[in-house]
Amino acid sequence: MMRLILIINLLVALWVFYDAQKKGFTLWQSFLWAMGVFFLLIIFLPLYLIVRRRKGGWQTKEVPLSSSAMKVCFYCGRPYGGEPERCPNCGQNLKAF
Ligand SMILES: [Zn+2]
Repeated sequence: MMRLILIINLLVALWVFYDAQKKGFTLWQSFLWAMGVFFLLIIFLPLYLIVRRRKGGWQTKEVPLSSSAMKVCFYCGRPYGGEPERCPNCGQNLKAF
């Protein structure tokens, strides 16, 4: 029975190790997570799943932010939203180019 638990812990730890690297953790961080899961599966596995989901959430949040509607004025360098004819900051024609 103890051996079975050990094998399950090892498999879960290995999964955490590879999955953490895929999720953008460093090799060392992944190793620590794997070790934590291996020795304290009950505590570290739910903890890892929470952190993992949060990390994934950050990544999906960053994608629309970087390609959002906010643009930078070609003339004054200030950001503006939407598709205005003229820059709300400096009044230059934005449709000229
Ligand atoms: Zn401007």
